[in-house]
Amino acid sequence: MSTFPAPPSPWRLAAVLLAAFLLAAVGSSAARLVPGMAPPYWLPAGIGIAVFLIFGPKGALLCLPANLALSWSHYRLGGGIATSGWLPLVLAALDTGQAWLAAHWWRQRELAQQRPLLRRPSELGFFWTRVCLLPPLIWIPPALLACWAAMPEPWTLPAAGLQLGQHITGNVLGILLVTPCLVAWRDRQRWYRRRRRLRWWPGLALPLVTGVALLLHGHALMLLLPVLLAVTVYYRFPGVAFSLLLVALLLGSITAWGTGTFAGVDPDVTFFDLQVFLFSVTLTLQYLALGHEQLLEYQRELKHDVAARTRELKLANERLAEMATTDELTGVTNRREWQRRSAESMMLARRTGEPLSVLMLDLDHFKHVNDTYGHLVGDLILRAVSRACLWSLRTTDHFARWGGEEFVVMLPDTALAEAAQVAEKLRLASARAAVQHDGTAVQVTISIGVTALRPADLNLDDLVRRADAALYAAKRAGRNRVVIDTEAVDG
Ligand code: GH3
Ligand code: MG
Ligand code: MG
Repeated sequence: MSTFPAPPSPWRLAAVLLAAFLLAAVGSSAARLVPGMAPPYWLPAGIGIAVFLIFGPKGALLCLPANLALSWSHYRLGGGIATSGWLPLVLAALDTGQAWLAAHWWRQRELAQQRPLLRRPSELGFFWTRVCLLPPLIWIPPALLACWAAMPEPWTLPAAGLQLGQHITGNVLGILLVTPCLVAWRDRQRWYRRRRRLRWWPGLALPLVTGVALLLHGHALMLLLPVLLAVTVYYRFPGVAFSLLLVALLLGSITAWGTGTFAGVDPDVTFFDLQVFLFSVTLTLQYLALGHEQLLEYQRELKHDVAARTRELKLANERLAEMATTDELTGVTNRREWQRRSAESMMLARRTGEPLSVLMLDLDHFKHVNDTYGHLVGDLILRAVSRACLWSLRTTDHFARWGGEEFVVMLPDTALAEAAQVAEKLRLASARAAVQHDGTAVQVTISIGVTALRPADLNLDDLVRRADAALYAAKRAGRNRVVIDTEAVDG
């Protein structure tokens, strides 16, 4: 089982990887820095891991012959060391084993964490030590022992130590540079998914300018770090992975040809300087690229969280606003909201001179209803009456529960006579509203006091007070009736 998506065409991929191996072989023979250690020679260590990661154990069928060709070109044809025929075979087997081990650990880690590797900076520690460093540390010493055994003249101890160091650092660098390219390629859709348009020209112009600067002056190499940093930020992890590989190949080749910043007299020192530079730049930028990626991810998550919280808050506010303006039992407007809206209507009516009326409603003998049928039935009646009233009114009228079993209505643009008709309609509608209890229909009647706006009215209280007085008069007159405020009639 693999966490990698199946390659679209294994044959095409195999051909590409084989070509990479051969190019590395030819390149390392052509650009020879230290015998057998030219820059392209580093890369097969990484290409081998890619082969095993993509093809699984079957990758050995590709990796072994390719490594054999490589060793052959180095130790038999490259003029490096004249040795017996079995050495290339042993070296190819050991190189293949190294690639297999690194790929095996990589895959085990991916299976354990159930997601692809190299997406977070915290995974770099594992990548650098278990994938890049440990496999070469394990497989290079036996490879060098084989070389030593096959030598016509055995190495001296310092020479053997130097070979060991160079081979290990070379292989580590190869894995360090090539494997991230595979990851970048595999995840390319993920890295660039959110980018609408990715301009290609800065990626071309930046290295070109730096390259020219490098040719003109060796110390222009220091420019490379900001340039690579810009690539990291703009082209993300894939950009940095491929740029680093390119930089390593170019710098290595330039140095092997005896020019550039690192070219010196002693090839071993030159080789060391070049590797130190490549290691420091690669490790730094890989960390920065993934760190930057994680920051962007946090930012996205944060944005997402904030948007979700804002939505929740908006909903909660809407619910609160509704709770603050409606009466819990009946669901109609509450007294405070009625006062707010009615005060506005009253101000408008005073300015425009349009009529305006207020009705005060009270259920008759409601205490008796509660006492007889219980409070729950009383509540149901309050609801039934308020619903009946609401249905009898226009949407522009303000109907509200004043408190207890009292309701209030403001009728904008309605004169007293018309308001009295509306009140009568409400009285009849309320009387019809019934609640079923134990097989009987419980009904109530209501009394209503009506008043209208007068020029002397300064605020809402004046209107409410007169409507209340009219209501009181209706109660006294025997209930279940509409009484018009006499002051208003007189006025
Ligand atoms: P009147 O015809 O003079 O208005 O008589 P009444 O019994 O309706 O008047 P009173 O003011 O004496 O009693 C009002 C009753 O309304 C008392 C109270 O139990 C009842 N009431 C007030 N609020 C509610 C409520 O939210 N639910 C129920 N079930 N009853 C309520
Ligand atoms: Mg009452
Ligand atoms: Mg009352």
